[in-house]
Amino acid sequence: MIEFRGTGKSFGDLKVLQQVDLQVAQGEFLVLLGASGCGKSTMLNLVSGFERASTGSVWVNGREVKDVDPACGMVFQQYALFPWKTVRENVEFGLKMRGVSRAERARVAQHYIEMVGLKGFEDSFPNKLSGGMKQRVSIARVLANDPDVMLFDEPFAALDAMTRQVLQEQLLQIYEKSGKTIIFITHSIDEALMLSTRMVVMGAKPGRVVQDIDNDLPHPRTADVQLSSRYIE
Ligand code: ATP
Ligand code: MG
Repeated sequence: MIEFRGTGKSFGDLKVLQQVDLQVAQGEFLVLLGASGCGKSTMLNLVSGFERASTGSVWVNGREVKDVDPACGMVFQQYALFPWKTVRENVEFGLKMRGVSRAERARVAQHYIEMVGLKGFEDSFPNKLSGGMKQRVSIARVLANDPDVMLFDEPFAALDAMTRQVLQEQLLQIYEKSGKTIIFITHSIDEALMLSTRMVVMGAKPGRVVQDIDNDLPHPRTADVQLSSRYIE
C-alpha cells in the first residue's frame, strides 16, 4: 500500500505538489497522467525516497518514507545504469547487494535479460547499447529485484512500437501473476487503458489529483502475448 497524506513538495519558491491525498492499495496498477511538469516524476521520487516531502508525508506498507527504500524498485525516465558495469552486472546489482548467491544471481539475471530480448548482450557495456536497449536493461533490473512496489517513469516512451507492445504485455503478465503494487507514468492514453486498473490525472501549478478513474476493462489482457513475443526473438 502506498499512501500520500496531504503531501506537498516545493523546490525553493517553486510549489510542485500541493495537498496530494492518494491511496494505492496492494495489487493496484495505477497509471499517473498529466501535463509535462505537473509533478508526476516528483511523486515517484517521494515514494522511492529520492526526495523528501516538504509538507505532509508519504507511506509505503505502513512505514513513512524517510530514506531510499529498497522495497521500491524504480525504472527512470532516463535510464540510470552503471556505465562501468555490463548488462549482466547491472541486472544482478540489487541481488548482489542482498547477498544472493552467485549462481542464483546469474540464473535470475539471465531469465530477465532474455525476457526483455537482450540475449547475447549480457557482457556488453551500456555505452554500446541503444536508448531502448538501455531502458530494457533498467526494466530487467527492476524485475530481477522483485520489489513489493514497482515504479515506472515513462519506461516505454523511447521504444519502437513493437518492442513497446511486447514489454507492455510482459509487464502485464508479471503484474497479473504477482499482484504487485505498481505506479506507472505515461503520456499515452492507450497505454494507460491497456495497463491500468486505475488512472489518476494530475493538474498542474501546483500538481494535485484532479481525476481518479477506475479502469474496469477485464483482466487478463495478455491473451495475445505469444503472438507478439515472437517478434523480439
Ligand atoms: P514530465 O511529464 O515532463 O516528465 P513531470 O510531471 O514528471 O513532467 P516533474 O519532473 O515531477 O514533472 O517536475 C515538476 C516540476 O518540478 C518541474 O517544474 C521541474 O522543473 C521541477 N523540479 C523537479 N525536480 C526538481 C529539482 N530536483 N530541483 C528543482 N526543480 C525540480
Ligand atoms: Mg516526468
